[in-house]
Amino acid sequence: MDNFIYLDNAATTKPFAELSKIYEDYSSNFYNPSAVYNPAVNVKVLIEDTRRSICKALGGEQGNIIFTSGATEANNIALSSINLRGKYNLIVSLVDHPAVFNKAKQLQNAGENIIYAPTDNNGTVRLNDIKNLVSDKTVMVSIMHVNNETGAINDIKQICDVIKSINPKTVIHVDGVQAVGKIKVDLQSLGVDMYTISAHKINGPKGIGALWVKKGIKINPIVYGGGQEQGYRSGTENVFGILSLGYCIGKVVAEQEQNYNKIQLIKNAFLQQLTLNNVQFKLNSGNNCSPYIISLSFNNVRGEVLLHNLESHNILISTGSACSSRKPDNRTLKAMGLNDNLIMGSIRISFSAYDNYDVNNIADTIATEVKNLQKIIRGNNG
Ligand code: PLP
Repeated sequence: MDNFIYLDNAATTKPFAELSKIYEDYSSNFYNPSAVYNPAVNVKVLIEDTRRSICKALGGEQGNIIFTSGATEANNIALSSINLRGKYNLIVSLVDHPAVFNKAKQLQNAGENIIYAPTDNNGTVRLNDIKNLVSDKTVMVSIMHVNNETGAINDIKQICDVIKSINPKTVIHVDGVQAVGKIKVDLQSLGVDMYTISAHKINGPKGIGALWVKKGIKINPIVYGGGQEQGYRSGTENVFGILSLGYCIGKVVAEQEQNYNKIQLIKNAFLQQLTLNNVQFKLNSGNNCSPYIISLSFNNVRGEVLLHNLESHNILISTGSACSSRKPDNRTLKAMGLNDNLIMGSIRISFSAYDNYDVNNIADTIATEVKNLQKIIRGNNG
């Protein structure tokens, strides 16, 4: 792994080394948190402390955390908590992650009314569209905070204000997977009702995430069993995962501002060097974007071929999102109005604040490979 220049941190991140200490402690305190003897009760106490510390780190003390197997499950719980009864509606955005989008599609296939909010050509949801789409029939709006393919940031506070001014009963769910630790998140001032997080995007282990739920908001379980997680998510707790998630949230939130500044400099230096190489590209990550994610499109290049050519230089990137990389098209870039040629030639580069990069070397290598591929295409056409 250490030989690679890993630039796919929106897909997953390298776990913090400190997690091995958490694992060691967990191994000697492995008791089932539901058991009633003292060592087990101590584990239960640790879980409850972690729940509270996550709420505090996210400014969500007026709510509760339900631990899940990840963001996909948290998003599914959120969207399964509404009852549309064929006459009410759910609004999701056209560029939402499949964990929201495909759940909405499933509800639609079951006969429910789903409204898809379009985006501007930066991939952000427009306030005016939200104004026009929300009505007294809107039960829930689910909008992502930061887009996982372009880094586009939705103005969640303004969106919440508009929605609540039209229909105060509308429940607002936000997928915050790519936002936590990357930009400032304060759940109380944002005004959201539910917020999804995932550990493996912030240097935690895979298979653990959470849904934050504001007090008074009703959710429905999608898994039934022994009644853990207040009955909302049965199953013996992933204790190592929960403690690790708590650790990672604490660290990335505390270091968020300095990390943001570091990554902003890296992004700017990378784009500057790419430009100096005289290679034409379209930057799909506009002004209001998280600097951690850069989506770029090149004309007359297949993103997948470029990905493999870069891999031969030990540079690991992605085409679009990891979840859709085997599919030929890209829903997000399409919604942003890109043509097929640019969609085909799109790549995603995503940084970690806990790594260092030789951006000149990365940009030079990408530019050389892009020019080589464009030469081959020109040769084939000539
Ligand atoms: N939501 C967003 C915005 C994501 O980027 C991802 C990961 O790709 C998910 C949800 C799914 O997260 P998990 O892998 O924890 O289920």
